[in-house]
Amino acid sequence: MKIAIAGAGAMGCRFGYMLTKTGQEVTLIDEWPAHIEAIQKNGLKVVDGENTDTIDIKIIRPEEATEEVDVVIAFTKSMKLGEMLEKIKAIIHEDTKVLCLLNGLGHEDTMAKYVPRKNIIMGVTIWTAGIIEPGVARLGGTGTVEMQAADPSGVAIAKELVEVMDKAGLNASYSEDVHFSTWRKACVNGTMNATCAILDANIGEVFDTSTAEAIVMQIIAEFVAVAEKEGVHLDPAAMKDYVYTASNKVRGHYPSMHQDLIQNHRFTEVDFLNGFVARKGKEYGIPTPYCQLITELIHAKEDILKVK
Ligand code: NAD
Repeated sequence: MKIAIAGAGAMGCRFGYMLTKTGQEVTLIDEWPAHIEAIQKNGLKVVDGENTDTIDIKIIRPEEATEEVDVVIAFTKSMKLGEMLEKIKAIIHEDTKVLCLLNGLGHEDTMAKYVPRKNIIMGVTIWTAGIIEPGVARLGGTGTVEMQAADPSGVAIAKELVEVMDKAGLNASYSEDVHFSTWRKACVNGTMNATCAILDANIGEVFDTSTAEAIVMQIIAEFVAVAEKEGVHLDPAAMKDYVYTASNKVRGHYPSMHQDLIQNHRFTEVDFLNGFVARKGKEYGIPTPYCQLITELIHAKEDILKVK
């Protein structure tokens, strides 16, 4: 299968590496000059615990992407999705499927501006990855991928893609309700990412504070209420269990929003997590004071740190 990965940061490199190793024809598309140069010069290096491996893989800038592909896997940060799809429209042909694996909410609407609905596949993944330095990705751990065609006419090809990913060891499955999984993951992110960034603490430290439960439960309540209006039923008690189980497994971890904002002074995906819930809450007349305040505090911190 000819696959382009649009956004070749940590996750794009992980998926690109695993798919290439099982014989798929993968091209990475990215805009970070140092990363592109390193991969073109030395190949893509991956580090997995004690093991390292290096593969040759094509990496190009969006404006160099002209060759038609079967599938595009979108792995930009949320705020760059539309811009990337606009820039690579030359490779998105009538039958090109585009799979979105970003964290966050609202991406299907962005995708629909650039891709016919019959070609959209929405997904969610709990794999993780990091960038150690340009051209070097950290793997480690295990994960899954769920995906679902946005239109019934896309089910067969989405299932083919599931098989391709499964062969690559990505534990992929076809979902009958990917919106539920996407909202559930966004709600987990919505309780941990911004709170750890604002408090400059890891997940264990935040969840051990005396006020954590009140904050977490209010954020969950706001996600649950807005999700319901969006046609997704999240059970508050089940969501609380899910969040606490997830947080207990990664107590020492600094979530990506902490890494992006506090450690690397980069923009965050808050507008697609708590910010999305606050925006939609306003539209539906549902109060979302915690999500609203959290989003504003993150943007204020972005200003203070003069992020780029
Ligand atoms: P990333 O930040 O590693 O990469 C996104 C883009 O930023 C890429 O174009 C990359 O080249 C560029 N970039 C990365 N580091 C940079 C730097 N220091 N300077 C300049 N540019 C840099 O993003 P990601 O972690 O691959 O995430 C992509 C999507 O997948 C997001 O929606 C994220 O929430 C989601 N996701 C991430 C993980 C994870 O463990 N990283 C897990 C699940 C989902």
